[in-house]
Amino acid sequence: MREGVVLKIEKFATHDGPGIRTVVFLKGCKLRCKWCHSPESWSFGVQKYPDGEIIGQKMTSDEVISTLMEDKDFYDASGGGMTLSGGEPLASPGFAVEILKKAKHKALHTAIETSGYAAPEVIDEVLPFVDLWLWDVKELDEKKHISYTLVPLEPILSNLRRVNAALEAESSQTRKIILRCPMIPGLNDGNAEIEAIAKLADSLSRVVQIDIEPYIPYGIDKARRLGLKVYEAPQPPPEYGEKIVSRLCALTSKPVCLP
Ligand code: SF4
Repeated sequence: MREGVVLKIEKFATHDGPGIRTVVFLKGCKLRCKWCHSPESWSFGVQKYPDGEIIGQKMTSDEVISTLMEDKDFYDASGGGMTLSGGEPLASPGFAVEILKKAKHKALHTAIETSGYAAPEVIDEVLPFVDLWLWDVKELDEKKHISYTLVPLEPILSNLRRVNAALEAESSQTRKIILRCPMIPGLNDGNAEIEAIAKLADSLSRVVQIDIEPYIPYGIDKARRLGLKVYEAPQPPPEYGEKIVSRLCALTSKPVCLP
């Protein structure tokens, strides 16, 4: 049985997939998004803040599953389940696959929140055990993507198309993709970016929704405590998210939502 490092487990979550869910955040991420909201998840190991507060804990997949199962009644009553998040869960593929596989054996609805940055073989391994893909779309210009995240865009888009094709080929059509777009004022919220998101969503049959996630500077204090740097974007103006939703709605046939 595999052991991995879990950043935290959040119960009664209602934002990361349908119904009441438990979100399991795995530690470790190879991206370095300028605006990262959880720089404490970058390192793959258990860490400490300078004041001694511990970040993350080692857990086996069985320990994760038994924590998940404590709230099975709530999932059943609400149409919820479990969501695997990070960090980047696909950066710990063996542990991620084992958790997802065991969750499916327990008949839980499963979602994964991912940047999509992984080897295609990892995507194939995870695919059978994921009901809902929450796929981050950070930037759709290759050069800007590298500059904002330090990783290339094309493998991510190729993986997204791969997942879409696999889901499209299924007869049940119950498994879905939601695009999640962090909107950072002055960085990725221009007309070209909004148009590119609409075009991408409309090109993928299993994308059922676009979520707009306006910038919140959650990462600043945590980065300072760890001696790391994340970009502090200007505070979004009033109704920033609503305005982006309406710009996007004019360009795509897919539903667009705010959290
Ligand atoms: S925002 Fe997510 S994908 Fe980007 S660096 Fe932070 S943890 Fe990694």
